[in-house]
Amino acid sequence: MIKLTLAVPCFNEEDNVGAFYEAVKRTFDGVLSYEIVFVNDGSTDNTGERLRKIYDSHTANVTVVSFSRNFGKESAVYAALQHSRGELVCIIDSDMQQSPDVALEMVRYLDEHADCDCCAAYQEKRIEGRTISFFKDAFYSFADKLSDVKMRHSASDFRVFRRNVAEALMDMKEYHRFSKGMFSWVGFNTHYIPYTAESRLTGETKWSFSKLMKYAFSGIISFSTKPLRIPFYLGGLFTAAGLVWLIVIAVLGVMNGLSDNYRMNIILSFIMLMSGLILVCVGILCEYISQVFIQVKGRPIYIERSCMTYSEENEEDKGTVL
Ligand code: UDP
Ligand code: MG
Repeated sequence: MIKLTLAVPCFNEEDNVGAFYEAVKRTFDGVLSYEIVFVNDGSTDNTGERLRKIYDSHTANVTVVSFSRNFGKESAVYAALQHSRGELVCIIDSDMQQSPDVALEMVRYLDEHADCDCCAAYQEKRIEGRTISFFKDAFYSFADKLSDVKMRHSASDFRVFRRNVAEALMDMKEYHRFSKGMFSWVGFNTHYIPYTAESRLTGETKWSFSKLMKYAFSGIISFSTKPLRIPFYLGGLFTAAGLVWLIVIAVLGVMNGLSDNYRMNIILSFIMLMSGLILVCVGILCEYISQVFIQVKGRPIYIERSCMTYSEENEEDKGTVL
């Protein structure tokens, strides 16, 4: 049995994958049994060729999966999980920002703590620019309020976890994958350790500001159906206000006679009341849509961490942990 799988997404990392492979070998050779699953996410540079060279010359257990085009990091991580065979899995970038030594530290933590299923690294000091930092913080505060799962702000997907966590992640078959939310959603005991991200060895980050915004938006949508309640609440407000307005105008009209001004107010309050009712109907529709949305994701109804069951074969046992 392989102890550790390193799941490595690569997109246009021709000058990094070689150094990454050497660094991994320096850290893990002779320490534990491991495999590396590289996923070439539709690179347009020589990453594919470099990975083939690594595969051909490998002294370690190497798998290279190549995508037909660029599907994004989340898809690459999913593919790596599906090809992984290790008892533990580590998601790690191929640009040398995340040190294999920290991965080993996380493996050791899990070895020493049987009750812990996942060890995640969080950045103590973030090396990104102030604007990105500001927007990331704003996103997490907003996401915390909206979504049902809580995400740790500076934790990344650089983490080591047990096979049961990997299986649970693979059971989430949703197309729009948002790993931070998914790690929170599957649960399990998680321990966080601080680390300092290095600078990229070569190349530039693949995340432009607009790509990050799109990812953040998709993260909120994937883990919250609360925005779908907005029409219902707005509709309730409009209906109540329109109704009060209509009643007041009607009473005043009966008392003072129907002037043009009153007629206009009656029409406007009626429009408000009807708009409110339409929004309430849209809100009811949204409730159904949110249930369909949750159902089509096909997420598991529950995830077992362990199960104790009585076994007749061994009467002396009080139970067997499966
Ligand atoms: N990556 C990928 N597909 C993409 C974008 C990125 O597989 O479409 C990989 C990339 O090669 C790297 C990791 O995901 O190994 C993290 O990407 P990047 O370094 O650009 O992100 P950052 O570290 O800036 O968050
Ligand atoms: Mg990076």
